Amino acid sequence: MGAPTETAVTVRVPAKVNLELRVGPLRDDGFHSLSTVFHAVDLVDDVTVRPASTSSIVTTGPYADAVPAGPDNLAMRAARLIAERVGTDEHVAIEIAKSIPVAGGMAGGSADAAAALVAVDALWDTGFSPRELHELAAELGSDVPFALHGGTAIGSGRGEQLVPVLAKGTFEWVFALHHEGLSTPAVYAECDRLRGREPVAEPEPSSGMMAALRAGDVDALADNLHNDLQPAACSLMPRLRDTIAAGLDEGALGAIVSGSGPTVAFLCGDRSEALNLMVSLTAGNIADEVVGASGPVHGAHVVHDVRRR
Ligand code: ATP
Repeated sequence: MGAPTETAVTVRVPAKVNLELRVGPLRDDGFHSLSTVFHAVDLVDDVTVRPASTSSIVTTGPYADAVPAGPDNLAMRAARLIAERVGTDEHVAIEIAKSIPVAGGMAGGSADAAAALVAVDALWDTGFSPRELHELAAELGSDVPFALHGGTAIGSGRGEQLVPVLAKGTFEWVFALHHEGLSTPAVYAECDRLRGREPVAEPEPSSGMMAALRAGDVDALADNLHNDLQPAACSLMPRLRDTIAAGLDEGALGAIVSGSGPTVAFLCGDRSEALNLMVSLTAGNIADEVVGASGPVHGAHVVHDVRRR
């Protein structure tokens, strides 16, 4: 007999890029109403939870230093929320193997929260229904429900009300990462400042984007990428305009600032075009880091589950 296997559940969770992000008026609760199209890509974090006598959280990987190691960590908040709802005083040790850039507009923190929800739910065998998990996710943050579901989906409200989109095909992306982050609230504030007093309509998904996704038409998708936060992100970090221009010059079909930035997402015709673009952007020192990914992929899902009771 080998050594006893330790109890642990690992959940893999994807980053997101917003293919379309339309920002409506500021609501009374301080949030903007949104209409967005989320798209999950295979740039992932792995979140492992183990039973422990006290709560702890450790992050590994290149972005570990930028991730809070205490109760502010969204994965820890997710574990505490489940403990509170279940009414348990059990604790978990959480380990995040982080590949999703931090404060990059790819919802890495929200992804970890979704992963922790799924992992702790499995570890404690809570029996929450998918709808209940979705509600817990929405309590944790606007982007957390999408990280649970993955795929391609329209988000409305604050982004937490999801409807899956009928989308054909797989798309190849190149992400230009900047190590200097952009704060999401600061980008929304800059968007409001740039808009001034102009009236803002309630946002809705564009028919062009829906048709492109239904057809799996990469050229049409490139033409319909749209982010209302892009002018604000570029205003706060003007070098993003150069990054976008460089990627388009080097053959990307389309470019968009991801969420509130500063990551820039380039859409490519196929995998080999994506590899060529990665080489050119890296050689031209266009960004702090360049990574490739494809989407859509599944949301948070268990990849390792050993439980001993
Ligand atoms: P979004 O696209 O949802 O606006 P983002 O990708 O720009 O998010 P995150 O990587 O989610 O940004 O991080 C935003 C902040 O959240 C970080 O600066 C960090 O202080 C905090 N944070 C809390 N928990 C985590 C976590 N598990 N991983 C990363 N950041 C976290």
